[in-house]
Amino acid sequence: MGVFDHAEFDNHESLHYFHDDTTGLRAIVAVHSTALGPAAGGTRRWVYNNDDDALTDVLRLARGMTYKNAVAGLKFGGGKAVILADDNTPKSPELFRAFGRCVDSLGGRYVTAEDVGCSVDDMRYVREETEFVSGLPQTGSDAGGDPSPWTALGCFQGIEAAAQARLGADSLKGIKVAVQGVGHVGLYLCRLLHEAGAELYISDVNGDNLRQTTDEMPATVVPPTELLFADVDVLAPCALGNILTSMTIPKIKAKIIAGAANNQLSTPADGVRLAERDILYAPDYVINAGGIISVAAEYYDNGSEDDVRADVGRIKDRLKKIFDQAKETGRPTHELADELARSIVAAARQ
Ligand code: NAD
Repeated sequence: MGVFDHAEFDNHESLHYFHDDTTGLRAIVAVHSTALGPAAGGTRRWVYNNDDDALTDVLRLARGMTYKNAVAGLKFGGGKAVILADDNTPKSPELFRAFGRCVDSLGGRYVTAEDVGCSVDDMRYVREETEFVSGLPQTGSDAGGDPSPWTALGCFQGIEAAAQARLGADSLKGIKVAVQGVGHVGLYLCRLLHEAGAELYISDVNGDNLRQTTDEMPATVVPPTELLFADVDVLAPCALGNILTSMTIPKIKAKIIAGAANNQLSTPADGVRLAERDILYAPDYVINAGGIISVAAEYYDNGSEDDVRADVGRIKDRLKKIFDQAKETGRPTHELADELARSIVAAARQ
């Protein structure tokens, strides 16, 4: 399939394919919009079944970043990078340096950071080749470092807002929460939920991550194939996207879906399906903006950790507004969020 007639093509400004002979690096960078600033979004390193899957992922993720950055009020447009991983291209400093040169060649149109499959350490090697990278090791009390704890904090506070809106609950004490994926974000989120007295149900395909979580706190382990349908109040997707579909939604028992994973809805129609079932959906790119808020403060060198905490705290207010509006109008939350994001980008274009 070509790019311009691809189902996920949404007037992306540019698309860049990279290959590095020495390291075997294969990467795609999608710049969706630079209306609000340089296109910013993390780098996902993933084993894709084929190039088409990688293209689909990067196009969707880049558009999501435009919406996320716009709604979060950041001076960033939206972009994303994927590194196509395979057995012949293991992670190495050379691979990330090569990727850094790719990013640098875009001259600042795209700013990268870590996403699934990449770490703060990997970004250090990218930084050796380009200044257009954030999410680097933190220095002192300046903003920066691993964005995951900030993403988790925004999600936790978003779950609080959703529990108030949908269940009338003033605290998460005794609320049952199923967390899908206890990786970087999921583990931090579990810690916050546990501290707040929530009852945890978790799944992961990585046994070490599961063990680390259950060693720290009480949590019921559920097989990955069953977690989405667990009998809980809140489902918090913190693994990968495309999980809310016409097949899964009818079987979901949770009354709230609020978690960090990007692109949770398989299609916009799935957001409508959730609303029809009276499942309150916290739009993914609104609730999971904590990490990019930290990345932006670090990149523009304009904030301390306390500033980032205050900014992440505003995610809850944005969600409350969307939930109230959904209640008043009967419209699905994802439509309201998309509308808000598009209006911010359109205003910037003018
Ligand atoms: P991660 O790779 O550290 O964690 C993901 C976890 O999900 C891993 O432990 C993995 O084993 C597990 N997993 C994979 N498939 C699974 C399945 N089918 N069932 C259960 N578990 C499964 O990634 P992360 O950084 O924690 O990010 C999680 C999600 O949140 C991703 O979708 C990411 O794009 C999104 N996100 C992350 C950040 C951030 O700051 N890290 C910010 C915004 C959005």
